[in-house]
Amino acid sequence: MSENIFITDETIAGDDDGPLAGKTVAVKDNISTEGVRTTCGSKMLEEYVPPYDATVVSRLKDAGATIVGKTNMDEFGMGTTTETSFFGSTDNPAAPGHVPGGSSGGSAAAVAADEADLALGSDTGGSIRCPAAFCGVVGIKPTYGLVSRYGLVAYGNSLEQIGPFGSSVEEAASLLDVIAGPDERDATTREPPGGAENDTDGKSYASAADGDVDGLTIGVPTELLEGADEGVVETFWDAIEDLEAQGATYEEVSLPSVEHAVEAYYVIAMSEASSNLARFDGVRYGHAAGEKGENDNWNEAFSQARKEGFGDEVKRRILLGTYALSAGYHDKYYKKAQDARAWVKQDFDEALSEADVLASPTMPVPPFELGESLEDPLTMYLADANTVPVNLANLPAISVPAGETDGLPVGVQLVGPAFGEREIIRAGSALE
Ligand code: GLN
Repeated sequence: MSENIFITDETIAGDDDGPLAGKTVAVKDNISTEGVRTTCGSKMLEEYVPPYDATVVSRLKDAGATIVGKTNMDEFGMGTTTETSFFGSTDNPAAPGHVPGGSSGGSAAAVAADEADLALGSDTGGSIRCPAAFCGVVGIKPTYGLVSRYGLVAYGNSLEQIGPFGSSVEEAASLLDVIAGPDERDATTREPPGGAENDTDGKSYASAADGDVDGLTIGVPTELLEGADEGVVETFWDAIEDLEAQGATYEEVSLPSVEHAVEAYYVIAMSEASSNLARFDGVRYGHAAGEKGENDNWNEAFSQARKEGFGDEVKRRILLGTYALSAGYHDKYYKKAQDARAWVKQDFDEALSEADVLASPTMPVPPFELGESLEDPLTMYLADANTVPVNLANLPAISVPAGETDGLPVGVQLVGPAFGEREIIRAGSALE
């Protein structure tokens, strides 16, 4: 396991039978597993062992899956390369010497390297789709509210969803079938509209992977091609031609607001992170600084624990998020970002009234070389340009492998209307 895919190797057996019997699943290390440490890729939680399972983990066990380990990730999900992990970087099995993408890099790599049949990741601003694209596998970011977040360690809770990876669209969709659906422990979950009708033999999502795109209209947002790598764009257009040859039509559409999406996303994500990560104080959760009783000043003990427990990227985001939320700046940053978010949502709704699905390159660039982007957070943030708008709009999206440029994997992203998972699964399966 030279790629450093798993933080913790541990087999967790599921029930004897069920739709995933005989399947192995790798689980991102920010998803709680009872009795098995869950680190979030952080020194802060190096020894944290949750006393309960996340809802998605209970559902995996009930479905008969075998969990094979907890996968490497950017610390608390903050990154695009898996290099901000306290546990070191992960090599890309599909492009050795390159990053696997992030933040769910270990999960995508586990599927790409055949260390697991399937994997779970989480996507706050692209963290399932980016590593799927970089590792040449399929990843789905569900509509906000389709999958329970109970037991997912929160980073940007209004943006994120747990979702599946697989080596084919149908495989990934079969895992979505198991984890999707309302959970009384997460009040933001809901029954998809028309849920029961959509359900064919309990395999509603997997059965949609039938490759039938005859009559489908695809909107291509021109803004999401601007500034992208040439080889990536070429591979993208080849994929669109492939869909056209199968009876789909495409038209260019416009999402003018997306030029503000990265800024808005980072203000919102960092603000939520600064609040969500406040619980890691070395008392309630997390790494405790010094010897017991050594530090009798609460403020000092708190700041020491956080100084030692968090890495640089996490500290940067807590500081910026706290700043954006502080009195006097709240209206200037947080409120503005929320306005931009509403605008992005409206643009998507309009575009999706003209087209059945929207298509773009998942990532504007091929996978970075290991070590290349760590020193430059802004470049890393800008690489999220095509994925973060979808989280701001709470919509479903899939990344499907579309070929290579210079030997490096390229993914195509398909975005659907809210709870339109079946549409993007159908369109995605036509690319295989
Ligand atoms: N790269 C984005 C970020 O760093 C997305 C991360 C994610 O989806 N968890 O915030």
